[in-house]
Amino acid sequence: MKLAVIRERREAEHRVSSSPDSVKKLISLGFNVCVETGAGAGASIPDAQYEEVGATIGSDLKSTLKDADVIFSVQGLDAADVKSAKKGAVQLSALNPYLEKDRLQAYADAGLEAYAMEFVPRITRAQSMDILSSQSNLAGYKAVLDGASHFGRAFPMMMTAAGTVPPARVMVMGAGVAGLQAIATAKRLGAIVSATDVRPAAKEQVESLGGTFVMVEDEETAEAETAGGYAKEMSDDYKAKQAALIASTLAKQDIAITTALIPGRAAPVLITEDMVKSMKPGSVIVDLAVENGGNCELSKPGEVVEVHGVTIVGYRNVPSRLAADASALFARNLVHFITPHVKDGKLEIDYEDEIIAESLVTKDGAIVHPRLKEE
Ligand code: NAD
Repeated sequence: MKLAVIRERREAEHRVSSSPDSVKKLISLGFNVCVETGAGAGASIPDAQYEEVGATIGSDLKSTLKDADVIFSVQGLDAADVKSAKKGAVQLSALNPYLEKDRLQAYADAGLEAYAMEFVPRITRAQSMDILSSQSNLAGYKAVLDGASHFGRAFPMMMTAAGTVPPARVMVMGAGVAGLQAIATAKRLGAIVSATDVRPAAKEQVESLGGTFVMVEDEETAEAETAGGYAKEMSDDYKAKQAALIASTLAKQDIAITTALIPGRAAPVLITEDMVKSMKPGSVIVDLAVENGGNCELSKPGEVVEVHGVTIVGYRNVPSRLAADASALFARNLVHFITPHVKDGKLEIDYEDEIIAESLVTKDGAIVHPRLKEE
């Protein structure tokens, strides 16, 4: 059974979907692993490290994919490259399925069996396969460091002979996986941290990390969380109350880290231009939701802009900015996903398994995921 690890081709993508450690595990499961040359370069993993653990190196994409039964990738094959994959090949990767329907159709047309790792359900058994958690966790950490590096002041309070430097005030919007890590990181750097979310369950988590929780509480908040633990889109009435709360809190902050997402929809706008105007000069906003439309209406994907004296950081693909760690965790997520479906060196996928059923997006020439078929 051949397993191909391809080099990522998208802009600003430095991650790789397998590490030498994970290749070792895949080989012990019975795979012949072929890694495309240069696949690990962005994550500081030279070809030689893969060869040392028993992988072969493919000289280009075509030869790497030739006869491969399984394809590992961070972002998935581009539509134009699908023709190089064997019909029926299984691909594990992130797929951005709501926004890249054409690519899914190309996969279906080529007979690829593709799994969107973003769709792995948030159940206890699947925690070790959850790329959203492993990557968001790193993004939350990096967002604080990015914020700190654009902030012309210190984070911790410093009492010096020349006088006292006050601690920075950081507000985190969206207290999911990325937000909680951002809170923990900002606290470790010595900031005074507050956070907000629409899910009341976030309160306890924020407070356990030493943050102050602020939120609009009304009858709607009891319904704000889906069965899967995600946030719902809130009503206009709620949004107006939330905007008033954020406006009054934000003006006192030095740094805002925004992470709020709603699956399958544009990110909610939480920071308007007027709110940016109300912030102190030199303040910084780091918008982790920028690729989903942005939580700040002035953030620009892939850019750092200064508006009304406030620096707004909109880096794309923040996990890739920590490519070595992000790759190591992503690689483990994929190994955990596939391991239960390999028996005696053969791939035997259990299509009844809830994790498989919820993440399978194309099979036998069609887009099969119910949520993607509906829309
Ligand atoms: P996410 O990336 O979808 O969203 C980030 C955060 O933004 C969430 O906390 C969400 O509630 C919040 N948000 C959305 N709209 C908002 C708004 N208008 N204002 C303020 N905040 C808003 O979320 P996530 O980090 O993927 O976490 C989603 C849920 O999944 C959480 O409940 C988390 O605890 C849970 N989770 C469970 C598992 C597991 O059990 N395997 C693993 C990871 C996460």
